Amino acid sequence: MGELKPKGLQQPGRKPKPAAIRKLDDLEAAITALLERTQEIRALLNAESTPALHAKDLLTFFAQQWQARYGTAYVPSYAKEIAALKRLVVALGPDEVAARIDRYLATDSGIYVQAFHPVALFAASVNKFGSNLNQSTMAAPPIDCRHVPACIDDQTHTKRKLQESREAAR
Ligand SMILES: [Zn+2]
Repeated sequence: MGELKPKGLQQPGRKPKPAAIRKLDDLEAAITALLERTQEIRALLNAESTPALHAKDLLTFFAQQWQARYGTAYVPSYAKEIAALKRLVVALGPDEVAARIDRYLATDSGIYVQAFHPVALFAASVNKFGSNLNQSTMAAPPIDCRHVPACIDDQTHTKRKLQESREAAR
């Protein structure tokens, strides 16, 4: 009369499970695998945020500031300039690179103006634009600041502009 019992109970040594429980187990295993996949993807995205995504942000920022100076669109040499900015992000961090971009584009000395302030020249001369080198220009509020309330110094202003640039790019 064994056919009256559920199949699973006929083999006590194996503790077999009813079909519905097995399906539930399969579903849980699939969900676990799926969660592992989404976590892997998230890890990849987070890894990209330093420094490749920062470099993209900074190139957008550079192009916006460049356009503000020259009144025409900046045409990037995308791959080369991203690579250059990535190297600087690794060395200096994104906020410092943004601050140096700001100072670079505000510089009116001959070679930069003659070359129209390209990213390549910025990358090549980045050490000239460290904050500790320009203390005298750091004390005053930035001339081009139209923020309300006004930024207290150049660094605050640059951070706000970078943040706005990120938001505009979204
Ligand atoms: Zn400002």
